[in-house]
Amino acid sequence: MTERETIEMDVVFVGAGPANLAAALHLKNKIREHDDLVDRGRKHARKIGDLEIAIVEKGSFVGAHILSGAVMDPIAIRELMPDFVAQGCPVDTVVTDDAFWYLTEKGSINAPIMPRPVKNKGKYIVSLSEVREWLGGKCEEAGINIFPEFPAAEVLYGENDAVIGVRTGDKGIDKEGNRKPNFEPGVDLIAKITVLGEGSRGSLAKQVMARLGLDERKEPQVFSLGVKELWEVPEGNFTEGMAVHTLGFPSDTRTYGGGWIYGLKNNAISVGYVTGLDYEDPLIDPHAEFQKFKAHPKIAAILKDGKMIKYGAKTINTGGYHTMPKLFANGVLLVGDCASMLNGQRIKGIHTAMKSGMLAAETIVGAFEHEDFTSNTLRHYAEKVNLSWIYDELHPVRNFHAAFQKGRWSALINTGLQFLTRGLAWGFMPKEHHVAGHERMEMLNGSAQGVRTDNGLGPNDHLRSERYRDLRFDKELTFDKVTDVFYGAVAHDEDQPSHLHVLDTEICATRCAEEYGNPCQRFCPAAVYEMEENAATGRRELKINFSNCVHCKTCDIADPYQIINWVTPEGGGGPNYKGM
Ligand code: SF4
Repeated sequence: MTERETIEMDVVFVGAGPANLAAALHLKNKIREHDDLVDRGRKHARKIGDLEIAIVEKGSFVGAHILSGAVMDPIAIRELMPDFVAQGCPVDTVVTDDAFWYLTEKGSINAPIMPRPVKNKGKYIVSLSEVREWLGGKCEEAGINIFPEFPAAEVLYGENDAVIGVRTGDKGIDKEGNRKPNFEPGVDLIAKITVLGEGSRGSLAKQVMARLGLDERKEPQVFSLGVKELWEVPEGNFTEGMAVHTLGFPSDTRTYGGGWIYGLKNNAISVGYVTGLDYEDPLIDPHAEFQKFKAHPKIAAILKDGKMIKYGAKTINTGGYHTMPKLFANGVLLVGDCASMLNGQRIKGIHTAMKSGMLAAETIVGAFEHEDFTSNTLRHYAEKVNLSWIYDELHPVRNFHAAFQKGRWSALINTGLQFLTRGLAWGFMPKEHHVAGHERMEMLNGSAQGVRTDNGLGPNDHLRSERYRDLRFDKELTFDKVTDVFYGAVAHDEDQPSHLHVLDTEICATRCAEEYGNPCQRFCPAAVYEMEENAATGRRELKINFSNCVHCKTCDIADPYQIINWVTPEGGGGPNYKGM
């Protein structure tokens, strides 16, 4: 039995994302306000005093693992800190112009009127990684303890399944599972309240939802994968402050997808493509979709003679209001993207994540005031969300993503109608409403048999869709996954157990090969999964290059058998998205 240190805290936040950083800072401010009112006799309540607050983060620094487009709606950060720009928040550029392009295979149609949801004029283009680093600094100045390289690996439960904290991962275990000389056991962080803000498909949020049934009677969460590169382009190729969103090519009408190009300072460009992880064709490869997007004449012209400088990939939780789990249980709150707070229509979630964190903080103040950390007080968080502008924003677009599961054209009609009906457009919705993405993947059949190609679309992937027949990686405009991973500055100590747990590799070599053609080779944007021929057995068997992993969580979401579990690797491992 491993002896572990136990540290008693008041509140532990898991994940140093925008939701939890805003929550921790707001909590400090609200406690100060509360105690001040009590001191001045303006509020008859008990003082709360200094709480021990910790934020644990799996990345090597705050912001290492965050990747975002990102045009930030400043509504939440303004509530948190009205003078955020004066206080040094690293906003890169103000959006000065918007465009919405519908891409056909070779051409484009410029929308004459900007659809309201993608209007961004006056908002801020930011590197979310840099904003997080800055907010982390503000939290530390306020006396909040931040522990980078401390992945929370397990939830700790007390009586009646109340959450009582988290256990961080052990360090110094070799790939065979033996202790190395530098072995350090994880620490038990015991807290009165644990706040899970791990981002899309949080590994602890997944455990808690399953154990406590927080997703019962809710629609399944639905995700999309964003693949992105940062480029430097010659002056004049694209305007600083310009934000373009696209629909159409290269997605087919049955697959949810869209692109973006944002003009940053110093001729830098953020270019990316989102593919819904509820696609039907098992031969779709979201990374290849992005490369095709860049090869479109309109996009290629913007990137011409430029240089790619960074790469990253991350899932977002696009299901919206109907897929929000129950947001609380005894001792625990769920905030941000792991609680489905993102607005899929605007592809924006930073502001809703921050606001959810702030509402969680206000709930926590009430819990400490009454010294009650059960659902009795924590349920007020869900009420606050439903009384806030989060509800006003998310409820009218609650049917946005589900409509895409019926195809692009009904979704567009539904999108138009929802403005008139405040979200009701039932005739254009699929009967089942949201279906979990992995359940929508179809088995290989006549139309999705794939072709053998030699264009190096993936290591060892012998089955490629016709849709990528002409795609080549010239390493100037288009890049293969392994090259892109290099630009993600991904690093993991290779002498550790794989953090990708495949529960039954026999399925990979047999049923999955036959039924789906091993889609993990395609949906992973980092060439982690390969089916390699075993000379002894003559079979193609699964090989996992876990050190390439960019922590996007796609495999945990999209695997049709749901036998891949993404768990936290040793602290500090993963991509380095500084500046993205
Ligand atoms: Fe994403 Fe899974 Fe690939 Fe890692 S292994 S990059 S989490 S799909």
